Amino acid sequence: LAKQKGQNHFQFYVASIDKEIRDRKLLEKDLSKALKNHELYLVYQPQVNLETGRIIGAEALIRWQHPERGLVPPDEFIPVAEANGSIVEIGQWVLEQACWQAARWASEGLALRIAVNLSAVQLRQGTIVEDILSTLARHKIPAGRLELEVTETSFMTNLADAVDKLRALHRAGISIAVDDFGTGYSSLTYLKQMPVQHLKIDKQFIRDLLVNEEDTRIANTIIDLGRSLNLTVVAEGVETAEQEYYLKQRGCKLAQGYYFSKPLPAREFETFVQSFHQKIVENNT
Ligand code: C2E
Ligand code: MG
Ligand code: MG
Ligand code: MG
Repeated sequence: LAKQKGQNHFQFYVASIDKEIRDRKLLEKDLSKALKNHELYLVYQPQVNLETGRIIGAEALIRWQHPERGLVPPDEFIPVAEANGSIVEIGQWVLEQACWQAARWASEGLALRIAVNLSAVQLRQGTIVEDILSTLARHKIPAGRLELEVTETSFMTNLADAVDKLRALHRAGISIAVDDFGTGYSSLTYLKQMPVQHLKIDKQFIRDLLVNEEDTRIANTIIDLGRSLNLTVVAEGVETAEQEYYLKQRGCKLAQGYYFSKPLPAREFETFVQSFHQKIVENNT
């Protein structure tokens, strides 16, 4: 009986893996058409300087409005795009779109820094440095206006190659942030070698900040590490006034999260920035 039960479990397991593979294949097929069908778009989440209370930039985040499934979260389709290589084309589109938007905002007097997520797969491309620099040039965006967010996995496959490319990008004036810091295979060796200027504390450590003692200690440690290595620390996933206050007085310089705003479509983002800064003016008079 036990054996039979085990077999059933096994069949059930195989069936569910089978379904997963089929789902992934379907998603992959749909994703291959998403770009040309204009189903992808970007939303922008403000990054706030905690000292001045002002919005200094925005992180561009991709969205996929699937015709039948509705909104598919990037955590679902980015891994698929990374696995089949289509992240290269999608990532180039993201960069293009973000630079176009940044140029438009600049022409309207809104000169913000724009942060773009760069996949480890993109960074491995031989032409990535030229691609990024030529995109900036085409949109007449000063390199200092662009920030690239990379994760620790970018440094794992070929550290020397990643170092070379990020150095070249940094020399051109682009700033580099380590995204989701603390969740990957963090090594202090690469932090020393890497031309990175920003550390983003992963939102998993911010969620229970002040509630969970370990998370609070981890966040403190990253802030201190940033200070001693002269890196700007950004907290992501800030949702409450208490978290904001704590991070600010603890010396964390930048923050983003639902407490300030969810990621917004470009038009709404513009309106948001204006009213956010208007409030600061009002509070100071
Ligand atoms: P990420 O780069 O670490 O982005 C932060 C994620 O946290 C975003 O999820 C954002 O919407 C979410 N978030 C922001 N504030 C809060 C908050 O206060 N609370 C909570 N619970 N979440 C918050 P999103 O937009 O779903 O993106 C997920 C991940 O997908 C990103 O994580 C990034 O790794 C990837 N991704 C998104 N857009 C792109 C892209 O254009 N290219 C690449 N390669 N990856 C992207
Ligand atoms: Mg990011
Ligand atoms: Mg992150
Ligand atoms: Mg993340």
